[in-house]
Amino acid sequence: MSKKIGEQKTAITNKLSKEIVPALLNWYEYNARILPWRSEPTPYHVWISEIMLQQTRVEAVKPYYDRFLCELPDIEALSKVEDEKLMKLWQGLGYYNRARNLKTAAITIMSEYDGVMPRDYEKILSLKGIGEYTAGAISSIAYQIPVPAVDGNVLRVISRVEANDEDILKASTKKRVREELLEIIPEDRAGDFNQALMELGATVCIPNGKPLCENCPWDTVCQAYQQDRVMELPVKQPKKKRKIEQRTVFLLYSKGKIAVCKRPDTGLLASLWEFPNELGKLEIEEAKEKLEQWGINQYKLEKTAKGKHIFSHIEWQMSGYFVEIEDGDAIDWRELEFEWISVEEMERSYAIPSAYELFLKELEKKYRKEL
Ligand code: SF4
Repeated sequence: MSKKIGEQKTAITNKLSKEIVPALLNWYEYNARILPWRSEPTPYHVWISEIMLQQTRVEAVKPYYDRFLCELPDIEALSKVEDEKLMKLWQGLGYYNRARNLKTAAITIMSEYDGVMPRDYEKILSLKGIGEYTAGAISSIAYQIPVPAVDGNVLRVISRVEANDEDILKASTKKRVREELLEIIPEDRAGDFNQALMELGATVCIPNGKPLCENCPWDTVCQAYQQDRVMELPVKQPKKKRKIEQRTVFLLYSKGKIAVCKRPDTGLLASLWEFPNELGKLEIEEAKEKLEQWGINQYKLEKTAKGKHIFSHIEWQMSGYFVEIEDGDAIDWRELEFEWISVEEMERSYAIPSAYELFLKELEKKYRKEL
């Protein structure tokens, strides 16, 4: 991530000005990471990658992106995909509503825009699941429309460059930054400009730890750096504490088959598959009572490992039991509203959210040798 000879430097300024743009673009030319969605930045590619990149690291997204594009190469394929398959393709990325919204927006594009992403920021913004940031990214990167794309990376960089103490989580801060960027975004290189800013935030003006100011094309214009305040900025209100919820998970298993159930249609992890579970941390006797209520009597019971899963507003602290049932086929699973399926079937077609990753691994460890 080094600067190259000839990189342009600019004088110190108190607010963003067009003069600082060339140094950033020049830096980006030499330092942009090679990423799969950058090689052919069609509106579809930019859209899918940006939605995947929300809340997920670049390295983690790459294999998901490749697999998704392989199965659903264009907007038409996305609009027609079966929900279960879509959930399976999204499994592990979390925030499954993002995937559902992708499909809804694809259907709209097929019916209202002849299958082509509209070349218009406002129309893109009106599509389901596309906010200002994503609309800005698609418009500028795929169509060179000069609109900003302001995400957390960009807010951090700008608040440091301006040494601005406003809380970056406030809508008013985002609005101001957006308006300022609108003034300086170059008409002929809007996509590169937005990507350069995001890239600077992701790789140099980093969120955790000390930014790498000595590698930054804006070191001479950055007020926070000049004032030795880089670690104080950006200002961010501390988030509210997450609610903690205990859950006890039952891995009900017999001869290569396992019980799964569907979550409710609304709320957290809506309509996804999970293992039967109960609120609270059930001790062995309580777990046995539960099994009796379910009509499960002949079994071997063993504790699984414990773990936790963190959502944005809630934390699940999870413990569980392996329940090896003597004759699983004899139980009326429908009555319990569980599905009794083979482990292969579950792996192939049932999207189990990553909150249950620990239990999938436990299952694999314990039973793989039998399968
Ligand atoms: Fe960020 Fe440092 Fe560059 Fe300022 S000089 S924008 S703090 S990396």
